[in-house]
Amino acid sequence: MSEAQEILCKFCGVKLIYDKLIDRLRCARAPHCKHIEWDGPWASAATLIPFPKNRVVAIRRELKADDPFGGLWCLPVGWVNRKESPRLAAIRETEEESNLRVCLMRLLYEGVPNPDYNRFTMIYLARALNPEELRAGDDAIEVGVFDRKTMPPLCFNSHAQTLDLWWSGKLGRMPAQPDHFLRELKLAA
Ligand SMILES: [Zn+2]
Repeated sequence: MSEAQEILCKFCGVKLIYDKLIDRLRCARAPHCKHIEWDGPWASAATLIPFPKNRVVAIRRELKADDPFGGLWCLPVGWVNRKESPRLAAIRETEEESNLRVCLMRLLYEGVPNPDYNRFTMIYLARALNPEELRAGDDAIEVGVFDRKTMPPLCFNSHAQTLDLWWSGKLGRMPAQPDHFLRELKLAA
C-alpha cells in the first residue's frame, strides 16, 4: 500500500497496518487499540422478474465513468447500502431502475461470482405488483422483457447462469406466496 492510500484508525488516528494473520488492516497501536478494518465484502442484490409468455425483465445500464459494465444488459441489480438488508436493497434497486414495485418470492442464487473480487451477490425471484408501469428509471437507459431467444447477452455470469437455470425449469416455479415478505415489511416499518 502506498503512502497516498494510507488509512488511519478511526479511533486513534494512527495508521493502519496489514496483519497477515487475520488478512486485514489493523491499528498500529494493537493491542492497546483493538480496531480492525473489516473491509467488505461488497454485497449486491438482484431480481429475476418473470412476465407472461416466459419473459423476464432486463435493464440496460447507464453509461457512467465508474461503471465498467455501462451500456450492457443485466437483471435489475445494485449495491446493498450501509445498514440495509439484501432484500430491501433488491426491492429498492428494482424500483429505481425499472419503476417496478416487487415482492420477493424466494432466493434463487447466493454466491461469490468472481473469486478475484471481494464481493457476493444474491438474486431473488420477484413478482411485479405494477407490471404495466415498467419503464427505465435511474441508472438504466433502457428496460425490456425478453424470452429465452430474444434476451440480450447479460454482463454478469451469475445473472446469465441463473436465468438459464430458470428457463430450463431447474429452479422450480413461481410460488403462490412470498416467503419472508411480511417479516421484511414489518422490519421496514
Ligand atoms: Zn487505533
